[in-house]
Amino acid sequence: MLTLSRLSPHVLYMPADDPDRPALCAVTGSRGTLMLDAAASDAHARLFLDELRDEDIPAPRFVALTHWHWDHVFGAAEIGAPVIAQRQTAAQLRVMAGQSWDNAALAARVQSGEEIAFCEENILLELPEPRHVRIAQADIVFDGHLSLDLGGVTCEIHLVGGDHAADACVMHIPEDGVLVLGDCLYDAIYAPVRHLTHAKLLPLLDRIASFGASVFVEGHGREPNSADSMAELIAKMRAACAVTTDSATSSDDALTAYERVTGHVPDEDARELIAALIAGHAFA
Ligand SMILES: [Zn+2]
Repeated sequence: MLTLSRLSPHVLYMPADDPDRPALCAVTGSRGTLMLDAAASDAHARLFLDELRDEDIPAPRFVALTHWHWDHVFGAAEIGAPVIAQRQTAAQLRVMAGQSWDNAALAARVQSGEEIAFCEENILLELPEPRHVRIAQADIVFDGHLSLDLGGVTCEIHLVGGDHAADACVMHIPEDGVLVLGDCLYDAIYAPVRHLTHAKLLPLLDRIASFGASVFVEGHGREPNSADSMAELIAKMRAACAVTTDSATSSDDALTAYERVTGHVPDEDARELIAALIAGHAFA
């Protein structure tokens, strides 16, 4: 059961859930509420809006998107607030508004390689047919950075990119030390093989660390990350990068090197990271 909880003085949080519902946040200031990410469907958005109402929080004055993927944007029309989006995200919303989202159209796009089976499967679960998808368009468009003064609290949106999506943005709430990461740390899913590249991941890790946040919200995390758990994840990612720099490294050699470098047997996360980084050499 998804419920809203208070993450920090000005931020409310609903964790990610099945089938592919991302975490959602509300930043609450004296001048208004900002919703972070627009939910995977009208029903998902409604759940969040109803929880806000039950907590006597004013309905969102704006909703800001972390990136264009369906599960982060399909609920925007139901929210009904002006949509804030990075320029590339806004362009993708225009493309999506011109597409058909019924099962046959989705299957055809998966067949042509335009859509991926992972998203098709999850759209079918989140939104059984008959499916009415409304793609809200961006009202406020920015390029690199946008700052919102919500009254006693600010939200700074930064384009960070990365392998997962070129338009990936993070939202920093400096007064509360909260950083909303969206899906930026995840692998590239719109590719023939899921992967991560050293060239995109390493600068992104530096950028994330540079905010000095104490609470982190990952797009599909079931709970927020503390500074310690995020530092641990970043260290794991850096170690996985360090043992896969040579494009000729085999998976076995990288796993052995990882254990030698970190003193830990690679866990499932480390194994996945190493596999994704090795696969990434083909896309560098
Ligand atoms: Zn995504």
